[in-house]
Amino acid sequence: MIVDLRSDTVTRPSKAMREAMMNAEVGDDVYSDDPTVNSLEERVAALFGKEAAVFTPSGSLANQLAIRTLVKPGEELLCESNSHIVRAELGAAATFSGITTRTWTAARGLLNAEQALELARPDSGPYLVSTTAIAVENTHNFGSGTVQPLDEIKRLYSLATPLGLKLHLDGARIWNAHVASSVPLSEYGKYFETISVCLSKGLGAPVGSLMISTKERVATARVWRKRYGAGMRQIGILAAAGHFALDKNVARLSEDHARAKKLAVACNSVVASTVNPAEIETNIVGLDLTGATWTAAEFAGKAREEGVWVSALGPKYVRLVTHLDVDDLGIERAVEVLQRLLKSAFVPK
Ligand SMILES: *Cc1c(COP(=O)(O)O)cnc(C)c1O
Repeated sequence: MIVDLRSDTVTRPSKAMREAMMNAEVGDDVYSDDPTVNSLEERVAALFGKEAAVFTPSGSLANQLAIRTLVKPGEELLCESNSHIVRAELGAAATFSGITTRTWTAARGLLNAEQALELARPDSGPYLVSTTAIAVENTHNFGSGTVQPLDEIKRLYSLATPLGLKLHLDGARIWNAHVASSVPLSEYGKYFETISVCLSKGLGAPVGSLMISTKERVATARVWRKRYGAGMRQIGILAAAGHFALDKNVARLSEDHARAKKLAVACNSVVASTVNPAEIETNIVGLDLTGATWTAAEFAGKAREEGVWVSALGPKYVRLVTHLDVDDLGIERAVEVLQRLLKSAFVPK
């Protein structure tokens, strides 16, 4: 038995999802002729109370299309320093759009409006880089699936708007935030000018993200999507997986959250400093191995030998992610292996 906790991207489409894909009505999406893509774009835009959306093959592209409609070349986007946009998109904002970034650092990636705004320098004239947008990641991936408090988002919006700053939501896991906090998706839509969402993380689709915004920004994003070489044809097959995921796999995210909590409680009960279960709100558990005699890579290597796959994302940082393809039995197995390994890892050599 293999329990793959490396990421929520490792899910395989279920038989029922594949059937939905097989039966999808399709057309040439570059001609806007694919009815399944069109209905998915309309559906997702409406969920967030927005005018329009465009389907993309990845969340990185959805983020990049969004921020390039917000920030001109030579202007800057502010981000948290462990956010996906600055840490995991390989410099795309600089490479493709001439956008610079500056970052603030927050424990667990938790948003604090003042901390973000302290960096902001809108309309800086000829001497300093002008800030035009701020990105917020919700949930925060490297922060261990942190849900951003709605009050803090509202505060950021109300302080940033008079300065002429726009907000972008990296909502790859906004579904998890929505399920964990009960904040309606349309509520998030009120504060963010642009939003990216993924169908291929917790929702279990094989591929697919969307960039969501005004009609005008989405029209611009469509031009750039084609220019980047991501104009696609009969992708109703993929959009059908997205529809299926939205129908079936949103509410069940609470199961992933409960299983992540179980993992956190189990690890904490062996070595309390590895994780605070109270901080685990969604499907990501970061384990801090500070004080262990093993590195994160050594820990991940030994876990893998026992069929439990985890990610070593820092010298002493291990990440566990629950998802659609890990059930209660898998969690039991993972708990047994992780507890045993933690005992060994924290025994002096
Ligand atoms: C995974 C992820 C993305 C997009 O990733 P792709 O692999 O490009 O689809 C964007 N933001 C966050 C926070 C993510 O975790």
